[in-house]
Amino acid sequence: MDKLNTLKKYFGYTAFREGQEILIDNILQGRDALGIMPTGAGKSICYQIPALLMPGITLVISPLISLMKDQVQALNQAGVHAAYINSSLSESQISRALRLAAGGQYKIIYVAPERLETYEFLQFAQKAEISMLTVDEAHCISQWGQDFRPSYLKIVQFIRRLDKRPVISAFTATATENVKEDIVCVLGLREPYVLVTGFDRKNLYFAVETPAGKDRYVRDYIREHDQESGIIYCATRKNVDRLYDRLLAEGVPAARYHAGLDSEERRQSQEDFIYDKSPVMIATNAFGMGIDKSNVRYVIHYNMPQSLENYYQEAGRAGRDGERAECILLYSAQDVMINRFLLDNKEQKGEYTREELDAIGERDEERLRSMIYYCLTTDCLRRYILRYFGEKGMESCGNCRNCLREYEETDVTGAAVKIIAGIREMRQRYGINVVAGMLAGEDRARLREYGVNGYEAFGSLKELREGEIKEIINRMLVENLLVMTNDKYAVLKLTEQSDEVVSGKVSVILKKAKRDPAREKEAGAGKRSGSTKVRRSDILNSRGLELFEQLRTLRAQIAREENVPPYIVFSDKTLVDMCVKVPLGRNDMLTVSGVGENKFARYGERFLGEIQTYTGGIREKFYFGDGDGI
Ligand code: ADP
Ligand code: ZN
Repeated sequence: MDKLNTLKKYFGYTAFREGQEILIDNILQGRDALGIMPTGAGKSICYQIPALLMPGITLVISPLISLMKDQVQALNQAGVHAAYINSSLSESQISRALRLAAGGQYKIIYVAPERLETYEFLQFAQKAEISMLTVDEAHCISQWGQDFRPSYLKIVQFIRRLDKRPVISAFTATATENVKEDIVCVLGLREPYVLVTGFDRKNLYFAVETPAGKDRYVRDYIREHDQESGIIYCATRKNVDRLYDRLLAEGVPAARYHAGLDSEERRQSQEDFIYDKSPVMIATNAFGMGIDKSNVRYVIHYNMPQSLENYYQEAGRAGRDGERAECILLYSAQDVMINRFLLDNKEQKGEYTREELDAIGERDEERLRSMIYYCLTTDCLRRYILRYFGEKGMESCGNCRNCLREYEETDVTGAAVKIIAGIREMRQRYGINVVAGMLAGEDRARLREYGVNGYEAFGSLKELREGEIKEIINRMLVENLLVMTNDKYAVLKLTEQSDEVVSGKVSVILKKAKRDPAREKEAGAGKRSGSTKVRRSDILNSRGLELFEQLRTLRAQIAREENVPPYIVFSDKTLVDMCVKVPLGRNDMLTVSGVGENKFARYGERFLGEIQTYTGGIREKFYFGDGDGI
């Protein structure tokens, strides 16, 4: 069977997505491969299809138990023989799984890296025919990455112990150069085919909001999206507990997750969320890695995270099914302080020299700063993120808060020139508070200590409020017309571009939202006009939506019977496609996206029955517009 038929038969899709085919081809030719693709791009299929087409077994190294379970469940549903081996199984279950594996029972086996060096597993691996070894979440091997896992280093020794070196493929969503080099180098990939696909997630809408009351914002948002599943990330456990209690008291159903809860409670709330029993999860960043739930419709950050790497990864858990989803960050200046505190008190894993620690501290500080600028920028948020990850040249996206907001522009070049003069006169030794206070001509004891009133520039911007001066300085920082040192003093320094402002080559424009975003929010959370993309089910007319709801009910029923999450039965996207195509027989049903032969054999008749009953066997048009819409 060829790869396209395999895609259809097992996964029910008719075409490959960007990058999938070329990776699969290279792997099938026996070449090592590294796929760097954003969350939701479809990395799993890049190794699952070769695994099905190659002889023997594919081992998939994966860092998280929940992830393995989910993947294996989904594969078995699709008719692929797969298993996982990790510490959630008892010794006898492991022995049994290995015995079945040795007997050729499985095409794909997921293992935790710790397992690789156990005697029993090695015994098995040395005898078995292992065609490929896949390293999922491969960035865990890099000390540069966010989630370095020492046990990932065991993979290398494991490979050396095999008689025959299998093809090695590695996948990650982390794109930085350091991490990429580490993966290739540490894993010992041989002339790998490296593919980096675009990091843009077109279906995600990005926004930074500064509501007067975050709790109220979150509550209203959840209420307005009560049919939908979402995650609220908070910076601390305390925040999680507080918000959770508050929402519960107001009758908003939610689950919570953080490292301070006992493992049973964590397991339970994770399950409630995955099985759509609690549509909302309130959690610290301990939650989410390995959560494969594809129908998360929104991710709200109650606090600003420490870096854009963290932010994009967490926000990226929204909309994995490719349907529209929202990523909203609730910013307040206090978040900056929380994060500084967290960074200052961060425990470093491993041993480091003083110099290394300083370097790490500086790097963290720099990351935090880029995160803050994301919250302050008035430019396209998507473009800002993509630039940060090294993708240049994108136009404004038209699908983020900033692109959709109307601004008033003010030329503040004159003030910027005075700011630069002030910083220069103060010999680039002070941070934003002292500089802004000095220029505004403030006469506070703290400022007098620095002798600010002795400068010529003292009060040279006294027509402005201190806050306005800070706003201009922030704007200049975002545009790199000034920089801040990467230490806690955050001293303002001039850059080469500063001179271009002074010489009149560059002007500084301050953009202000025309309407007050906080007040607008109070008028109704999440109500935006002019948004360009709609959710896929929005294409259904009222009859179509009714059918969609019935199919969802059937799906929930099947999920309960089989004890799997609903999205593992069929995704929302698949159900919408059923409403559009209105299949009345087997062949029709197989043209629906996400319906493969195995899924058809399991569920096809029941869904056909539901559609038959609803339509009386007469096909009608259940959607708006003329195209097929999907
Ligand atoms: P990643 O691991 O890159 O985050 P997944 O492998 O979990 O992403 O895939 C994300 C979603 O996209 C899954 O629901 C998967 O079934 C779907 N998907 C993958 N490849 C295709 C394809 N070629 N056509 C349609 N859907 C796909
Ligand atoms: Zn934009």
